Amino acid sequence: MERLKTKQVRVGDDLLIGGGAPIVVQTMCNTHTSDVQASLAQCRRLAAAGAQMIRLTVPGLQDVPALKEIHRSLREEGCKVPLVADIHFSSDTAIECAKVVEKVRINPGNFHPDHETARRKFAEFLRVCKEHGTAVRVGLNHGSLGKYITELYGNTPFAMAKAAMEWLDMCVEEDFFNVVVSLKASNTVVMVQAYRELVKMMQESGNVFPLHVGVTEAGNGDAGRIKSCVGIASLLREGIGDTIRVSLTEDPEKEIPVAAYLAKYFSTETIAERNPLLDAAIEWGPRLLDREIDEIPESAGLGEYLRDEIMQAARRRFYRPEYIACPGCGRTMYRLEDTFEEVKRRTSHLKGMVIAVMGCIVNGPGEMADADWGYVGEGGGRVSIYRRGEPVLRHVPDSEAIDKLLELIEAG
Ligand code: SF4
Repeated sequence: MERLKTKQVRVGDDLLIGGGAPIVVQTMCNTHTSDVQASLAQCRRLAAAGAQMIRLTVPGLQDVPALKEIHRSLREEGCKVPLVADIHFSSDTAIECAKVVEKVRINPGNFHPDHETARRKFAEFLRVCKEHGTAVRVGLNHGSLGKYITELYGNTPFAMAKAAMEWLDMCVEEDFFNVVVSLKASNTVVMVQAYRELVKMMQESGNVFPLHVGVTEAGNGDAGRIKSCVGIASLLREGIGDTIRVSLTEDPEKEIPVAAYLAKYFSTETIAERNPLLDAAIEWGPRLLDREIDEIPESAGLGEYLRDEIMQAARRRFYRPEYIACPGCGRTMYRLEDTFEEVKRRTSHLKGMVIAVMGCIVNGPGEMADADWGYVGEGGGRVSIYRRGEPVLRHVPDSEAIDKLLELIEAG
């Protein structure tokens, strides 16, 4: 398999993405960035586990000093792993972070509510990035494309690629090429189609930027790993993907071995110790997703559980509910991992239903656009319950929220 030829992006002094560089493995802290000590400790653990880039959420300008302190302390200790600021809903915060860390991720769907102002602010942001040598990720998500784009093209893979192209064209206009792009979705089919559309459009435009690939809100456990492998491997096997993140609703340290395995699998390196679960997802998932086969043959010797999970991750057959769960980040408002486990335990009989468990009210509702039901942390020990994108109960104490969710589902 030949890798897609892309431009090369430099993050910090040493890290290269795309342009023939090895696939870069990255992850994201789930600490509150304002808690400098906890964030620092997690960054150290992630770097030791092999993360080549670490992202931290920066909810607003008030959090920039904490980011600065984390960055300064890590460099002082000799840890050189580039840091990425993750920005939603605040173009001014993106501009300030560009002066502090090696890379900034922005989400075009929420960079600024007014489209023309968003374009103007983005040009200003790129000028600051250029001045400071900061790399950028234009990171779109299926659930948060913004009204401007969905009114034109619907909430489709094509719309995702079109939206990305608008922002990449702005980079070209500003003569800014240190940019990586991502189009994530929780639905593996949507995600794979969106990246393929984007690659076609970039090739036609003559500027192919490196791609950050991932399945967002993949969940946890075997299911989260399998879903991530199916989506990511579908693209890596055709040479698409220069940096990857496996998003799990678990400690982010646990994401790294899975991402590293995928990166190795699609390189010339030998894998010393095989992982049968990941191997099966990587081998069979993409073929199912692309409809090259309709079933995993009995002769593969996988057993029913693994076959069912891979079929579901490739969206070919649903044998249990489909869960969408964010990995959690510095915006998370409650004990996400435990809550998600309990929701899974109590809804396991609802085959085919799509149930989302999201860490915050800022991004959660948009990102779970596909879900029949959603459990969203509001903060202050309260939860909102959503049905098909609309809130049906707000401010429910979290001790009662799972019961209320179950009652509502049962009432239909
Ligand atoms: S939805 Fe989850 S991962 Fe996304 S910003 Fe909110 S808490 Fe963070």
